[in-house]
Amino acid sequence: MTTTDTALPNPAANEATAALYLHIPFCDSKCFYCDFCSSPGRQQVYDAYVRSLQTEIKASALWLEQQQLVKPLETVYFGGGTPSVLGCDRLSELLQTVYAAFAVDPGAEITLECNPLSAHKLNAAALKMAGFNRVSIGLQAAQDRLLKGLGRSHTVADFTATANALTAAGITNLSADLMIGLPGQTLTDVTETLDYLSGFPIKHLSFYSLIIEEGTPFGRAMQNGQLADLPESEIERQMYQCVLDRLYNWQFEHYEVSNAALPGYASRHNEVYWDGRPYAAAGLSAASYIGGVRRCNCRDLDKYLALYDQVSLTGTDLSRMAFAAADVSETVDLAEAQREFFWLGLRKLAGVRLTDYQWRFGQAPGAEPLLALRRLCAEGLLIYEQSDGQLYRLSRRGLDWGNEVFAAFV
Ligand code: SF4
Repeated sequence: MTTTDTALPNPAANEATAALYLHIPFCDSKCFYCDFCSSPGRQQVYDAYVRSLQTEIKASALWLEQQQLVKPLETVYFGGGTPSVLGCDRLSELLQTVYAAFAVDPGAEITLECNPLSAHKLNAAALKMAGFNRVSIGLQAAQDRLLKGLGRSHTVADFTATANALTAAGITNLSADLMIGLPGQTLTDVTETLDYLSGFPIKHLSFYSLIIEEGTPFGRAMQNGQLADLPESEIERQMYQCVLDRLYNWQFEHYEVSNAALPGYASRHNEVYWDGRPYAAAGLSAASYIGGVRRCNCRDLDKYLALYDQVSLTGTDLSRMAFAAADVSETVDLAEAQREFFWLGLRKLAGVRLTDYQWRFGQAPGAEPLLALRRLCAEGLLIYEQSDGQLYRLSRRGLDWGNEVFAAFV
């Protein structure tokens, strides 16, 4: 068997999914750095959106079942946008629709992303009753001046109120997001943010560098030379190291470049992405990977509502609506899946094993990825452990230069 035999199928093409992502494209306000599909001020369409999403969820479930591409869901993820702006009743309704349309594993991880401002108005006990068992809260920084500078709608006190309300209600699997490399942010700010978070029983932390995206207010300010107080890259590296040191003190496992958790609390949903496993998705702009095909729904809210709102179909007609909103559809062939094995898998600190590659694809890696792995080892960006299934993983230096590593396989 050759090592680049693309006649072989991508193994994900026949793999059943156990993960569902639902996109809620609404926010309290638009942050200055954000290019996600989300918009503020559309409260008048919340109910129509929920109805539409319910139709798409049912259509997807039916199609997946007909194709035998689904098993009991192990993770359901409400992301956005800011799902918590919908309020508890709508969120519960959506989750009930998921339970009615899919088999859901009794131990499934059911995550709700939220922002402090909308979340502390939620009835945390009702969220728990509805079935949400993990909440991810976007703090970003524990300094109100930095939050204001990002265009965030909440204050640090809002985070305190939200985290306390969720904990009191018994939702103990809490994750927080923080950002580094922000305009005007200092190393002391990062330390203080970590000190602040130490006061809460969070189990998981996501930490990202600010990326300036074109077309955002920050992107325009950058173009006009008005975003002058960004930290130097060396300071940003020190901020990242500061986060890593604290995670070590908290006894968190740093399991992915930008994620760490107490043992047993890694995000099971995100692990599906990094492992190249399939996932279903519904909602505006939602991306799925089913039957070896990556699809992405349209970003036009009115078009989405026109497609799905008030659709009262059943059976075959309903299942035909499964991908009606997809405006991007790309088949991932074997060669692409093999590249993804490396560039997604190396994001995990546990690294990738060539024995796992052989097991997944039924063949050894080709000369090209092997040369890239050896070069990255020689440059000190990867570490090789032959005794552990021929394991390659990021070195400490590789963590700082991760994009160089991932680009070698794209
Ligand atoms: S809360 Fe998140 S999704 Fe909403 S505007 Fe801010 S960054 Fe974007």
